[in-house]
Amino acid sequence: MTEPTHPTNFIRHIIDADLAAGKHDRRVVTRFPPEPNGYLHIGHAKSICLNFGIARDYQGRCHLRFDDTNPAKEDVEYINSIQEDVRWLGFDWGTHLYHAADYFGRLYDWAEQLIAAGKAYVCELSAEEIRTTRGTLTQPGKESPYRHRPSAESLDLFRRMRAGEFPDGSRVLRAKIDMASPNLNMRDPVMYRIRRESHHRTGDAWCIYPMYDWAHGLSDALEGITHSICTLEFADHRPLYDWYLAAAATEHRPQQIEFARLNLTYTVMSKRMLLELVKDRHVGGWDDPRMPTISGLRRRGVTPEAIREFCDRIGVAKMDSTIEMGVLEAAIREDLNVRVPRVMCVHRPLRVIVENFPEGRVEELEAPFFPDDPPKMGARKIPFARELFVEQDDFLEEPPKKFTRLAPGREVRLRWGFILKCHAVVKDSGTGAVTELRCTYDAESGTGAPRDGRKIGSAIHWVAAAHSVPVQVQLYDRLFTVPDPAGGGADFKTHLNPQSLEVLTGARAEAAVGAASPGTRFQFERRGFYFADPIDSRPGAPVFNRIVALRDSWAKVAGGG
Ligand code: ATP
Ligand code: MG
Repeated sequence: MTEPTHPTNFIRHIIDADLAAGKHDRRVVTRFPPEPNGYLHIGHAKSICLNFGIARDYQGRCHLRFDDTNPAKEDVEYINSIQEDVRWLGFDWGTHLYHAADYFGRLYDWAEQLIAAGKAYVCELSAEEIRTTRGTLTQPGKESPYRHRPSAESLDLFRRMRAGEFPDGSRVLRAKIDMASPNLNMRDPVMYRIRRESHHRTGDAWCIYPMYDWAHGLSDALEGITHSICTLEFADHRPLYDWYLAAAATEHRPQQIEFARLNLTYTVMSKRMLLELVKDRHVGGWDDPRMPTISGLRRRGVTPEAIREFCDRIGVAKMDSTIEMGVLEAAIREDLNVRVPRVMCVHRPLRVIVENFPEGRVEELEAPFFPDDPPKMGARKIPFARELFVEQDDFLEEPPKKFTRLAPGREVRLRWGFILKCHAVVKDSGTGAVTELRCTYDAESGTGAPRDGRKIGSAIHWVAAAHSVPVQVQLYDRLFTVPDPAGGGADFKTHLNPQSLEVLTGARAEAAVGAASPGTRFQFERRGFYFADPIDSRPGAPVFNRIVALRDSWAKVAGGG
């Protein structure tokens, strides 16, 4: 039964009951069925973790099936990225990689079988006429004038549709179900349309393509899927799913189960919208670190473990809801906190001259990589010298009372180092900007508490100027300024956050950071978690993506503390 390490949910309860009742020969076979018309996003990750997780925990299997029934929007680039992303998330379909397109022949044969049995007919109404005769939720639809044509005639026409005798859009094959059904999906849905479009897998072998509903359940049946798990919007399609299986008299009958899709605040999760962001160059690509795509999260530096943990935490329910972006960020932070060493990087440097420290002298201080668990990676030596950099915003010339960092006449602790006191401020004569602080250090202060009981407010991060290395830092913020960019009337793009990317070219970091190879992660103390971008970094010139800040700054904005 279910391993206790993974939270249970109503789908696992259904499977438990099915196994107890001996259903499906006590097998569990699931599938993840993406349409290759875009890159996978964090919502897909929920479905992947659910389907592959169930297969793993029940010693079953999970298929990866490309639902490639719409050649117009599909692309091999997407096929490849989807496989890469599923693998990266830590899942394996083994030999069970399938394509709906590989079933086109069998789907066609089944369609002929339905026509022969009087359960489907060729309809010559236009798409527009089919739409207008479909009726509404309160009004029944109107039967097509072609509905009662003889089976033999439909069969002949369907074969000629396939043979390419008719122009695109001139005819469709429809299931003969019930034009008065309260469920609009049951009002003689279209099964096939004519579309002269090359398919990435079948080339020009077909000029008719099956509709999603017709292809999906039968593909599940062909593969012996036991539990066909999909999102809630397909609940209204379940009667059709079952009707098609019954009409085709499939040997195996999979069971469709719906769960709530993942919605996240401050982003969009529709492939159409994500594609628009890419095409219109609002982002650098599908893998832009601001995108909610798996490839974007990977490029940003998020680990697969953090994504899996997030998916476990949000659970699986039957009611739609929206998850706060902060929940994802918290999972990312907790994952990185224990796996990533801490170092110092000054983002916006302000020069400090330590007047009572001799020029040319260097004092090595010791700093552990994991302050909460020093043995984990040990410590490194950090050089202290006469010329330092501190963060511009750790100094205020006229500080409010509560400000505990550097200010004229005030003291601060240098992280892992001495106490520093500011005596004078040097300014640019033209702009008046602060360019340098003249300070002294307390040689006796060591790195512990001051012996004389002085109260020192804060410890700030710093680097020795001559020993530090330049790095580029890219600060990412949320892609949109409102929690629900896709909701409401306006174009979702009007809510794009113009400050979602800030590039800092003048940052200075400890030497170890400059030597980091692409793909390395650090916590920059007091700033957040960072990832050496695997594509933009050059040897000796890393570019760091901020994965996530140390605290949820948005919670504060919203008044949450
Ligand atoms: P579109 O955005 O074009 O409607 P889609 O997001 O449904 O497409 P598919 O490729 O059809 O993309 O999705 C593959 C699988 O992932 C489906 O089983 C779908 O239910 C699931 N899925 C898609 N989006 C989410 C989501 N936000 N949360 C959970 N599961 C999702
Ligand atoms: Mg879909």
